[in-house]
Amino acid sequence: MGHIVNLLSTEHLTHDVLRLRAEKPAGLSYLPGQAVDILLNKEGWKNELRAFTFTSLPEEDHIEFIIKTYPDRKGVTNQLLSYPAGCELIVQEPFGDIHYKGEGIFIAGGAGITPFVAIFKQLEKENRVGGNKLIFANKTKADIILESHFQKLLGKNFINVLSNEELAGYEHGFISAELLKKHSEESPNAYYYLCGPPPMMTAVEKHLAALGVKESQIVREAF
Ligand SMILES: Cc1cc2nc3c(=O)[nH]c(=O)nc-3n(C[C@H](O)[C@H](O)[C@H](O)COP(=O)(O)OP(=O)(O)OC[C@H]3O[C@@H](n4cnc5c(N)ncnc54)[C@H](O)[C@@H]3O)c2cc1C
Repeated sequence: MGHIVNLLSTEHLTHDVLRLRAEKPAGLSYLPGQAVDILLNKEGWKNELRAFTFTSLPEEDHIEFIIKTYPDRKGVTNQLLSYPAGCELIVQEPFGDIHYKGEGIFIAGGAGITPFVAIFKQLEKENRVGGNKLIFANKTKADIILESHFQKLLGKNFINVLSNEELAGYEHGFISAELLKKHSEESPNAYYYLCGPPPMMTAVEKHLAALGVKESQIVREAF
């Protein structure tokens, strides 16, 4: 089952992150923020489902994914490093809980930025970026996906947090309760959109609870 499509292009966005574009399956519809399970149509890999989030908008004529690769795991993302245009993907049905509910603070760790890439694309298209903020946690500057894109789009509302590098203009360490408080003060009822690896999600959820953020203000997806 699933739709077989051709991979159209693969390019590096950072040292370990790829942007893939593929044909859009006929009749596919999805919402910005949603993901889909994908298989490689290649002997030995046809049972290895992996979830990736659309970074294209539903009305675009192709589908796009931004994928962090883990060569040491010898899994699907490692295969994608040598899976050129013309190879086939099997695309399943879209799913996922992150979608835009209203203005707020988007908090991403690493590849957890992908649902927000699509949501911000949609907001930009509709001229509704407004006062939305993005707090993006990475190890180093070299790991930041689409840094100049978000800088241009969000200006001072784009806050980078680097755990393994100290640089002027970048917060250092992990996302802290103080940092969240500083950026939440003027909008107490904002939504908090969270996406990243489970340890980051757990830590941020704890900080938000301590700051009195209600469960109904949190929109999340763990990677
Ligand atoms: C809803 C959803 C949406 C997602 N969207 C995206 C996206 O848009 N972009 C993106 O980059 N990622 C996304 N992810 C994460 C993505 O699915 C995984 O990173 C991807 O499946 C990794 O596949 P892999 O085959 O390379 O490695 P894995 O399947 O993670 O690992 C392959 C094997 O390596 C070993 N292994 C696993 N973890 C480790 C570890 N930490 N250290 C060492 N060995 C390990 C295990 O033996 C495992 O079977 C999403 C996840 C979810 C749930």
